[in-house]
Amino acid sequence: MIPDKIIAASGNEGKIREIKEILKNTEIIPMKEAGFDEDIEETGSSFRENALIKARAVSEKTGLAVLADDSGLCVDFLGGAPGIYSARFSGEGVKANRALLLKRMQGATDRKAYFECAICLYYPDGRYVFGIGKTYGKILEKETGEGGFGYDPLFFSDDLNKSFAEAAPEEKNAVSHRARAIRDLLTKI
Ligand code: IMP
Repeated sequence: MIPDKIIAASGNEGKIREIKEILKNTEIIPMKEAGFDEDIEETGSSFRENALIKARAVSEKTGLAVLADDSGLCVDFLGGAPGIYSARFSGEGVKANRALLLKRMQGATDRKAYFECAICLYYPDGRYVFGIGKTYGKILEKETGEGGFGYDPLFFSDDLNKSFAEAAPEEKNAVSHRARAIRDLLTKI
């Protein structure tokens, strides 16, 4: 059973919005509102490790059940980059990350990519459970669409036949790495 009330270990509004849309019957409280306003260093070497680091840090501080999402974009032509470094790819924020991705992909004919998400649900007694999800697509040659967040305008979804930024929230949530990771988590608790 999923707790009725969970703290989301994230300051990313896009992620929190989607987690709320996917887990409609659970009260999702952003960590800031639960009094946790520190930067958590993501020192892990995988999405799972980083999700656990974030979930554990916030749960140990608040004493509550915490859900952490660690996710990113893995591009075949770039050997899986930016991967776990997706948020820090350019070091200059979201727009610059997309610009850098387009630059690195100039002339690439293999544009296959996937988003991966590891979700960690951490209980105050120290138990934790993971859910993992992936979604496949291609990197577009220019930004397309206005919705979503992060790399969504550059990600053409194989499932939806349009970019994630062109998709309605419910369309993205039907196939996204985040929704799949949460569904995977729900089968394990
Ligand atoms: P982190 O999980 O906080 O390390 O950051 C993940 C980064 O991956 C985000 O800042 C986005 O740049 C990217 N990302 C993860 N999920 C999505 C998504 O659903 N759409 C677009 N970008 C995403």
